Amino acid sequence: MTVRRLFGTNGIRGVVGRDIDVDFAYSVGSSVGVLFKKRRVVVGWDGRVSSRMLSEALVGGLLAQGVDVDDCGLITTPALQFLVKNTGASGGVMVTASHNPPEYNGFKVVDSDGIEIAREKEEKVEALIERNSWRAGRSPGVRTPRQAPLQPYFAHLESHVEKEREKLQGLRVVVDPGNGVSALTTPTVLGRLGCEVLTINDNIDGGFPGRPSEPRPDTLATLSRIVREAKADLGVAHDGDGDRAIFADETGRVHWGDRTLTLVADEVLRENPGGKVVTPVNSSMALEEVVKKRRGKLVLTKVGSIFVSRTMVKIGAVLGGEENGGIFYTPHHPVRDGTMATLLVLKALARNSLPLSRLLDRLPRFMMAKEKFQCKSDGAKKKAMARLRTKLKGRVSSELDGLRVDVKDKGWVLVRPSGTEPLLRLYAEGWTEDDLSALTGEFKPLVQAALKD
Ligand code: MG
Repeated sequence: MTVRRLFGTNGIRGVVGRDIDVDFAYSVGSSVGVLFKKRRVVVGWDGRVSSRMLSEALVGGLLAQGVDVDDCGLITTPALQFLVKNTGASGGVMVTASHNPPEYNGFKVVDSDGIEIAREKEEKVEALIERNSWRAGRSPGVRTPRQAPLQPYFAHLESHVEKEREKLQGLRVVVDPGNGVSALTTPTVLGRLGCEVLTINDNIDGGFPGRPSEPRPDTLATLSRIVREAKADLGVAHDGDGDRAIFADETGRVHWGDRTLTLVADEVLRENPGGKVVTPVNSSMALEEVVKKRRGKLVLTKVGSIFVSRTMVKIGAVLGGEENGGIFYTPHHPVRDGTMATLLVLKALARNSLPLSRLLDRLPRFMMAKEKFQCKSDGAKKKAMARLRTKLKGRVSSELDGLRVDVKDKGWVLVRPSGTEPLLRLYAEGWTEDDLSALTGEFKPLVQAALKD
């Protein structure tokens, strides 16, 4: 029997009504119930319109397998992961499609250590869903609503900025949760720390009326404007489930995640000399430079938060991060957490007593470009990658994830299929603007041709 692969790089994702429905959610709940063997599972969901419906079916499946459910309701992914790890639960499930458009939803399955389950366990879940034969037990589990689920999470977050607490008071921060569930976390934590908090798009709404759920420099014009108008120290934007953070400096300039990651790495390695940092193969050369300067060690992984998390645990890394705004900080929890990331950036501000733009400007700078190319289907995505591999024969420097070509004294290019959407992504980084245009000028037409053939 061939088992259909359901998990992508970030859990199970799909369009509701087409790929995912209540029967499927019941199957996910049942199979996770079997996986975690009749113990206690923490469940939560994001603000998508379909999340409530899917979580009810998911919980039904878990209870039918005799598993007790600790029900957190609306919560961010990192807060749920923190609770799983710190309450002795056997696992957790978050109903979310992260930053995807409103019609999507999905499931992130979390292990007892608060990190998404490893591939072997995903395969077990996939096989159980494929078999689709559930026997409801005679003694169903008990569902208990969790009271104030965020309180222990908030207290733990605050403990990481204890020393800087005084300097954080009065910092003016604009928070843009993008109508996602981080409206419940970041503004509250910053408020408790004495920051002056302004929020936009802070009504949780699965239609994402304020802006697309993915925080990117091109979707954050409002944040940028409000930061300038309010003379704020910085602005931060999260994705739908609150695990990513993209920052605007006090001039309103919005930076990609690897700029802030590089800043945070510089600070964290200052406190942890020789520490290890984990990042996917598409991160900036600037991070490499800073880690080298601090005598740390940079370890590259495939793209996907689970690879970063699991590698961090395996090698004992202190920090991890992704160019899309994911920052993983082991002293808190080695998963990406948009609120923790915000505290780390504020900590850098407090420790250096300099504006964010200055802190970022003094880091090594290279020029980066990112493009996405729509594909007709997942099959077309695979075919295009195969054609590209043939075309680039002899030039590919790494196939850790997608195809990476390093061009001497110019920079690098990476083309990889998205793990969650029918897209090919192209990343390019040049030493100078001219190098970058030369790289994109050569590789963009190559990708377009590979898609057309
Ligand atoms: Mg997310």
